[in-house]
Amino acid sequence: MATHPSTSQAAGGAQAGELEALDQRLVMHPFSALHTQAQREVVVIASAQGITVTDARGRQYLDAGSGLWCANVGHGRRELAQAAMTQMAQTSSIHSFSNFSNEPLVRLSERLLSLAPPQMRRVIYANSGSEANDTQIKLVWRYHNVLGRPAKKKIISRLGGYHGTTIGAGSLTGLPVVHRGFDMPMPGVIHTLAAEYHRRPAHIHSEEAFSRYLAQELDSLIQREGPETVAAFIAEPIMGSAGVIVPPAGYFREISQVLKKHEVLMVADEVITGFGRTGSWFASPGLDYEPDLITIAKGLTSGHLPMSGCLISQKVCDVLYSEVEAAGYLGHGFTASGHPVAAAVALANLNIIQAEGLLDNAQAVGQYLIDQLREALGHHELVGSIRGLGLMIGVEFDQDKAARRAFEDVVRVGSVLSQACLDEGLIVRGGHGRVVAALAPPLILTRSQADEVCERLQRGVRRFTEVLKTEGLLP
Ligand code: PLP
Repeated sequence: MATHPSTSQAAGGAQAGELEALDQRLVMHPFSALHTQAQREVVVIASAQGITVTDARGRQYLDAGSGLWCANVGHGRRELAQAAMTQMAQTSSIHSFSNFSNEPLVRLSERLLSLAPPQMRRVIYANSGSEANDTQIKLVWRYHNVLGRPAKKKIISRLGGYHGTTIGAGSLTGLPVVHRGFDMPMPGVIHTLAAEYHRRPAHIHSEEAFSRYLAQELDSLIQREGPETVAAFIAEPIMGSAGVIVPPAGYFREISQVLKKHEVLMVADEVITGFGRTGSWFASPGLDYEPDLITIAKGLTSGHLPMSGCLISQKVCDVLYSEVEAAGYLGHGFTASGHPVAAAVALANLNIIQAEGLLDNAQAVGQYLIDQLREALGHHELVGSIRGLGLMIGVEFDQDKAARRAFEDVVRVGSVLSQACLDEGLIVRGGHGRVVAALAPPLILTRSQADEVCERLQRGVRRFTEVLKTEGLLP
């Protein structure tokens, strides 16, 4: 790694070396190439505060990714640590199976439903986004079974979409890298086109026309599969891991009409977009559609503890609660579903988002950051698109900007990009379905911190371009 701009003296090099070596020998890292892992430098994070993380060698980075899109209120919030400690001392662990409950769980559910789109009526909890999306699949199947439509089982998701990695949620994910070698996707999951305006076909010239085109594609797909076999459609309101893809105008309105026509449920995966990331509590209402189910995780606790959930609409509740067989017994749940400590942390986290006006801040500073980025990088030879909503922003790199042609070796080029930024003291995710610097800093970001993110990204991009040229990765 190159010389780092800001290095604190706090950490010990010898201890860092030992941790790095042990990690390389003992830990199997998710989303890493097993063969090359041992040759790559391990970044052992020693502490994280606000928007800054420090590694065991004392190097400091601005975390423009909020971990994995999690730390909405910033890292290391004492209020959340305090909430966890108080709750753990009072009721450390109690399950919510059958008729057991706990106060934080009840209060959190009340609060969530007061913030959620008005059609939402109940919450069921899990621990990760993947578990929550697996739960959604089961709720959707149960819904149609209760309605006497046992053939309605297929789920449509989108190419490039990210919904997790368990067998169910990982099948919904539309990335070959998640399926390879795991016999996935499972049968009954179908992937359709993403709403990626930057990669629209050449004959389409407006966002509205592209939205209509995608809705027609979806309609034809459902017709081909047989509407009596299609249960649900799942989508991130703004795609995150695919590279911050903001849908074209009217997209969800058009899609919703198709789904309603075929009695296909709409699941909004708001795991990233929830809790202020895009400048509102949830992104779906602003995009003009009403999902039947919403998945939440990450920003729910700002990543301070694992917790996720499914918000269930009146329409779905009415059917599930009408089941006569076995008194509607729901044989589903996890040991830690509705964990009291996680629920107490989630409540404290929602309080911070509200008290500190982080929705407004995400909107204002997000817009400021996009403007700065457009000014700084809009004319760069490789930058094809800069887009976003709130503090969820993507800077996309094209191999051929004029032809809007994407890089082919996304994983390689993306990792050059993230390493170049890391060398400039900036954490961004670089290798997605596309080569995109995905910026999702904590919602506490100030304007001067936004300037710093922009400057470091500019330097990172300079370094990235040089490496691509040196390694012959540009034509
Ligand atoms: N859904 C979305 C939109 C995500 O971005 C993610 C994770 O990045 C998930 C679901 C899966 O969450 P988890 O990694 O907690 O299983």
